[in-house]
Amino acid sequence: MDTLWHWLWQEGRFLGIEWHFWKAVGWLGNAVFFSRFLVQWYATERQRRVVIPVAFWWLSLTGAMLLFSYALFYRRDSVFIFAYAFTWIPYLRNLIIHRRTVARACKCPDCGGEVPDQANYCPTCGLRLVLPPGEPVAA
Ligand SMILES: [Zn+2]
Repeated sequence: MDTLWHWLWQEGRFLGIEWHFWKAVGWLGNAVFFSRFLVQWYATERQRRVVIPVAFWWLSLTGAMLLFSYALFYRRDSVFIFAYAFTWIPYLRNLIIHRRTVARACKCPDCGGEVPDQANYCPTCGLRLVLPPGEPVAA
């Protein structure tokens, strides 16, 4: 226990890091950005296929913005600033596309469950949603 304490606190520094506001912002950015891999991995293992949950894009956006702030306001390093200056664009774009997809989803006429856009069957009750060819479409 004494060894662990000594390892955590070295010369008055937690983990040997000199802590201040921007160090906390930078490390929080690292933690948030890293956690997206765990979220994506968990979702993929759970569904037994490769999936990218919407939380992945939120964690990517938040982590990248924290690291970008750290680079821009504290480090003021051009390489570091450039590395995070544009990564938010695809993260934000994926969140916008996801939002539109959710907005397009409709309700099943039989069970009322949510049906994704362009689905052929209701994922809740299995009702066939696409009419066979040649059948008249009700107005
Ligand atoms: Zn249904």
